[in-house]
Amino acid sequence: MKINPQFSLDIKKYGGMDLNACFNCGSCTAICPLSTAESSFPRKMVRASVLGLEDKINCSLDPWLCFYCGECSETCPKEADPGGLMMALRRYLTSLYDWTGLSKKFYTSHAWEFGAIALVSLLVITLFALFLPPTADPTGLLNQEGGVKINSFVEGMEGEQFVGIIDIGDWVMGGIISLFLLSNIFNMFRKVLWRDKNLKIPLYLYLQEAWNLFFHFATQISFSKCRDKGYWVFHWLLMSGYTLMFTCIVILLPWFQTEKVHPFFHPQRLIGYYATFGILLATVLWSVQRLKKSQEKHRYSHITDWLFLILLFLTALTGILVHLFRINGMIYPTYYTYVVHMAILVPMLVIEVPFSKWTHLAYRPVAIYLHHLKNSALELAQKQQK
Ligand code: SF4
Ligand code: SF4
Repeated sequence: MKINPQFSLDIKKYGGMDLNACFNCGSCTAICPLSTAESSFPRKMVRASVLGLEDKINCSLDPWLCFYCGECSETCPKEADPGGLMMALRRYLTSLYDWTGLSKKFYTSHAWEFGAIALVSLLVITLFALFLPPTADPTGLLNQEGGVKINSFVEGMEGEQFVGIIDIGDWVMGGIISLFLLSNIFNMFRKVLWRDKNLKIPLYLYLQEAWNLFFHFATQISFSKCRDKGYWVFHWLLMSGYTLMFTCIVILLPWFQTEKVHPFFHPQRLIGYYATFGILLATVLWSVQRLKKSQEKHRYSHITDWLFLILLFLTALTGILVHLFRINGMIYPTYYTYVVHMAILVPMLVIEVPFSKWTHLAYRPVAIYLHHLKNSALELAQKQQK
């Protein structure tokens, strides 16, 4: 087994605390809702990190099973912050699964994270300025309801042309993001399951346990084990709002971005309002809590935690502004706010989804699935041995 004596120092780059403070008392394990007789959670990971058992950590699912309720850190008599360590290990593992090396750069260098976001934003603005400028003649750009015809406010484009171009861009971007994310998830599978040559998993078990993946993604149920139930509700609101927004703007854009302004109760508007409400509420609440540092789980914020919240908040806010300008027939404010909206949305999707904070939304349900799959395979092996 590979031992890295530098590990406790390395993990500090990902936001970990001083692990050497831990004197192995076990209070964190006693309080953690995930602890069982067989698994000393999170102390096992604390010890592995202190001892530099890198191989053990690299194939562990424990950091993903933790939902950062902060109760272990509250209880720790040495302020070793075991909950914060689990968070730092999640960042470390995200970097480990990512074969491009970009996650590591984004998590350990402010210059890379800010630089990449600024670069993608600038690229979006340049593309609009060069190829999709606003129309010089706004005549006829208002529809029957008095709203802006959003698909015709670009010079030389009418009807479905503009939304068609953005839609192609969305599918290309969605394809690239999915490629990176899925290949990194494949790496996670390799590190967790396939490195153990003795673990035999029949194909039917992969299918039998697959429901865990969808169930845990859709419900975020593991957060309900936290003492603070509001944490689960807000996490779910954010996840569902974000997923709906992603689906509407990447997959269903021609349905979502129409010339006609639909009445208030049209599903297109209701979905938009729900997604915006969920994202704004959760991002504002968590930003305030992170600033106040009143709860253990909000005491230490990594720069990537802040960037994710800020980008999400600004995406929702600029989306609302586009909508308000649009329904009030303000042609040029609608256009320029749309460009700003895209200049925030695109880097948020391109940087955050495959490489940074967002990835936990994908890795956590996959980890829960792998955890159940591994346990079922071990149970099967034990039965076969009897
Ligand atoms: S992290 Fe804190 S609570 Fe957990 S074993 Fe170490 S000293 Fe005890
Ligand atoms: S943060 Fe909560 S779930 Fe995570 S290890 Fe600590 S007590 Fe357990």
